[in-house]
Amino acid sequence: MYYDVLLTEEAKKIRDEVRAFVRDEVSPDLLRAMDKDEITYPREFVAKLGRANLLGLRFDPRWGGRGLNWVAEAAAEEEVGVLGTALGCAFVMPSIVGEALHFFGTDEQKEKFLKPILAGEKVSAEALTEPRGGSDFFGATSRAVLEGDHFVVNGQKRFVVAASEADIFLVYCRTNFDEKADKNSRISALIIERGPGVEAEYTYGLMGTRGGGTGRLVFRDVKVPRENLIGPLHGGALVFNQMMVPERLTSAAASLGGARAALEVATKYSDKRFAFGQAIRRFQAVSFMVADAVTHLDAARGLTYLAARAVDEDAPNSRRLVSEAKKFATDMSWEVTNKAMQIMGGIGYTDVYPIEKMIRDTRLCQIWTGTNQVMNLLIQHEYYREVLSGADRSRDVEADATSFGDETEKCYTDEDMWRVHEDG
Ligand SMILES: Cc1cc2nc3c(=O)[nH]c(=O)nc-3n(C[C@H](O)[C@H](O)[C@H](O)COP(=O)(O)OP(=O)(O)OC[C@H]3O[C@@H](n4cnc5c(N)ncnc54)[C@H](O)[C@@H]3O)c2cc1C
Repeated sequence: MYYDVLLTEEAKKIRDEVRAFVRDEVSPDLLRAMDKDEITYPREFVAKLGRANLLGLRFDPRWGGRGLNWVAEAAAEEEVGVLGTALGCAFVMPSIVGEALHFFGTDEQKEKFLKPILAGEKVSAEALTEPRGGSDFFGATSRAVLEGDHFVVNGQKRFVVAASEADIFLVYCRTNFDEKADKNSRISALIIERGPGVEAEYTYGLMGTRGGGTGRLVFRDVKVPRENLIGPLHGGALVFNQMMVPERLTSAAASLGGARAALEVATKYSDKRFAFGQAIRRFQAVSFMVADAVTHLDAARGLTYLAARAVDEDAPNSRRLVSEAKKFATDMSWEVTNKAMQIMGGIGYTDVYPIEKMIRDTRLCQIWTGTNQVMNLLIQHEYYREVLSGADRSRDVEADATSFGDETEKCYTDEDMWRVHEDG
């Protein structure tokens, strides 16, 4: 394959295994029924993945993972991305919820929750977003009040994938009600099992990503045992920061698969479709759209696997790279799927080809797991910190300027202007 150079032997092996699963084990009827909302959650697909030992690939085999690294997992996700966002999300959710359990959970929690999730026997969901807002995560208002050996949870969550089906919800709630508490010490992460007081509803007329169980959750006086606390009390920010790596890296990797699939359909079409007596690929206007799209796809792929490798090696700038990969790959996928439709003309806008569904699906990726504007907030924050720390000790290129010594023109603030004036 043309991007093998980015992958280790282990990653190539799992990529091929998942590619075969995606090709041979998932019927088009499942995808069609989900898109029509006739199936509201692909439970059998998750069970099948579990039986094939394909869930939570990087986790310890003791709990049902395969102990692979992020590069290998990204390669697997790129393949599953070909199936669209609803099945893609069903595949990655054990990796996202699993991250909290694997990293912060006790052995008892791993045995009780992580193992059945990775075996595909139980379905998990993560509930961060509230009707009052998703970007302002730390402003969560769902409440978990500790009363002796249990919490009492009240609140609402919105847009939760698998809400209608999940057995296990990872829910962020406010537990520290001190008004002066810093935002990093207000929230806790809890596992809430479906049961009394948990109301879940499959809802929303979604543009795409249908059949993934996305819905609303309401918690009314739900009793949650204290041992379901994940990580420290009021330490939900730590869990959140850890989970954002899989959350965003999986969005990036799956977007590569979606864009790749759309571009391949359009490329083949342009070789067969004739206009003015020749295949449309002979028009530079068409073949250059293909060239631009594949260049953009490869650039996003390079960045995504770089981010995956940076996380594997715990590189200091790995968080910035993960946010960049999420933003760049999801923007790329939107652009490439739209180009694919343009290449195909009117037929691309119909359901005779899957491009219109791919466009409806991929649009979400610029919004979920943190909007691309929120990615920019994080990227600029990290980059300023890196550059201003001066830690890289590279050449001072400012000194190469011809008039480097001209201090009168080095005016940054009002005070500088008056200093220069007085000095002059
Ligand atoms: C189909 C679907 C599935 C989803 N799945 C899940 C799930 O499983 N679990 C879950 O918890 N959530 C899920 N989400 C929620 C998703 O993550 C949020 O929609 C997203 O984080 C944005 O939050 P919001 O919709 O409240 O928009 P808002 O936070 O209200 O943002 C609205 C706009 O304001 C911008 N904005 C907000 N704050 C800033 C800022 N500080 N700087 C710059 N711009 C800003 C945003 O970029 C956006 O353009 C899902 C959403 C959808 C639609």
